[in-house]
Amino acid sequence: MKLYAIWTVPAALGLLQCPVVAQNTPVDLEPTTEADVREHIAILASDDFAGRDPGTIGEIKTLTYLSQQWATAGMVSGTNDADKPWFQPVPLVQSKPVSSSVRILQDGKSLKLNENDILIIGTAPDAAVEGPIVFVGYGTDGEGKVLGDVAGKITLMLYATPEGTEKYPSRDERRAALADAGAAAVLTVVPDSFPWRAVKRSIKRGSYERASDDRQPMITGAVRYDFAEDLLRLGDSSLKAESEAAQNAVVYVGYDTGLTADLSATTAIRRFTSHNVIGKFPGNRPGSGAVMLMGHWDHFGSECRPPEAEDRICNGAVDNASGMAVLTEVAEELGRLGPFDRDIYFMGTTAEERGLLGAYHYADYPAFPLDDIVAAFNLDTTAIAPRGTPVATIGRGETDLDDEIDAISRSLGREVDESLDANEFIKRQDGWAFAAKGVPAFMIGGSFADDALLQKFLRGNYHSPDDETENILDLGGAAEDADLHIALVRYFADTEKYSKE
Ligand SMILES: [Zn+2]
Repeated sequence: MKLYAIWTVPAALGLLQCPVVAQNTPVDLEPTTEADVREHIAILASDDFAGRDPGTIGEIKTLTYLSQQWATAGMVSGTNDADKPWFQPVPLVQSKPVSSSVRILQDGKSLKLNENDILIIGTAPDAAVEGPIVFVGYGTDGEGKVLGDVAGKITLMLYATPEGTEKYPSRDERRAALADAGAAAVLTVVPDSFPWRAVKRSIKRGSYERASDDRQPMITGAVRYDFAEDLLRLGDSSLKAESEAAQNAVVYVGYDTGLTADLSATTAIRRFTSHNVIGKFPGNRPGSGAVMLMGHWDHFGSECRPPEAEDRICNGAVDNASGMAVLTEVAEELGRLGPFDRDIYFMGTTAEERGLLGAYHYADYPAFPLDDIVAAFNLDTTAIAPRGTPVATIGRGETDLDDEIDAISRSLGREVDESLDANEFIKRQDGWAFAAKGVPAFMIGGSFADDALLQKFLRGNYHSPDDETENILDLGGAAEDADLHIALVRYFADTEKYSKE
């Protein structure tokens, strides 16, 4: 899409000398093209941007690019903080394992362990814990409450959530609840179906937390399913039996294996500040609410493979340069068509890949009251499907806006996927940080309607250095999703078309 610099450059320079008279001149919609989207992806996912890792040169380049593009489209800072325009600081803590030791004792005697049975990481430079090993099922009930006493204990928690419980607390939430309840360690029992290699890689990569989530020194980690099964057998039960008990029981307080463990870990801790980038198109009717668009700008950085590998950069072309590219195209078009009644906010979040950290931070420290958001739309992994793919909605059935959203999709000639299948991803995307606080938040588009194509990506280039611009064959769906979001914003930003009660 072309830039209409005639509107934006003089305004930005403060050179407008005559009153603006052409603001509401009707302009024709210009459909987004594949080439428009690809241009932004090629820049954001280039090796030069070093995999867009928070707290690195990749962050500076990414935030500079996005804020300049958005300002050129006509946005002003959306932080609503004159001291910190455009960029909201997000304090983070990175932990990387240095060394660790694990001992498991039965009646005072050490068991023989294989290197790959348990992997651990500490939350402080030196963390050492000792205590009884208890199996705690899912860790919490459906409301996120820890049932039973886990203080000082080394807990084994199931990776999966109970069958048929879509809204069960996420793994991170359950782990945090156990930590808050005083558990000395939370070790996740990883099913065999999940490749152990990936678990190992993710623990080696280290973890990120919000600085405000700092906890007492403790240990987290993963246990192979077979090994957890062995431990429970030593204690005269079985993982299968205990897992079934956890699945069926209303209240499950856990199972004491009778074993103890002695865990210690040395961890490199780095504190740094990353940023969400926030811009806005101010509306004509202040106080009438806001529409929010977002996507995560971050990815996994430049050390995705061992030092000897030829290509080590996780470029994140699909995930999520594609979402930021679509957002930026939407921004250009809205800048050309606006202004609208309501404020329109654009946010690029940091550290989504590390647990939606930037989005959670924003939801705790919003630039304006969350209640004022009439609808929020997240864009992530948009470059999956070709033109003509139906529209799926993550967040369908959670608000009363489905009919309106479907009507907008259909008005553009798109088919609507009315199933709730896409909600499988509801907690794995930034919109969740908003939905969890009652904001009508969605992720809408073609990528989550075609499961075969999506799975092909998730099993293939996803989170690897091969998620590169040249491996994206079809951006038709992304271009169509850009046009869909322009239509969605035009509707929800219009106080006559959509009035919030
Ligand atoms: Zn990702």
